[in-house]
Amino acid sequence: MKFPKNKRKYCKNCNTHTPHKVSIYKKGKETQSAQGNRRYARKKRGYGSQPKPIQHNQAKVNKKTTPTYKCSKCGRITIGTALRLKKFELMNK
Ligand SMILES: [Zn+2]
Repeated sequence: MKFPKNKRKYCKNCNTHTPHKVSIYKKGKETQSAQGNRRYARKKRGYGSQPKPIQHNQAKVNKKTTPTYKCSKCGRITIGTALRLKKFELMNK
């Protein structure tokens, strides 16, 4: 799917329509010392201790891509609706 690089969109902070820059949302780096990770690492220790089966066969073919919109005036980032797409293409109008 083709997406515009720049889009005129409503900004909550500015309270008007302003030009927004479109980009793809990317997951941040996971913190290894987070409580969930520490608990999981503790559970995984020892012989035969994979607590849950690892899923290998995925039902869905495509992963969700989320567009993010950054306001050019105030810099506020809003996250758009996630879509299941084969190809996400940003292009100039
Ligand atoms: Zn704004």
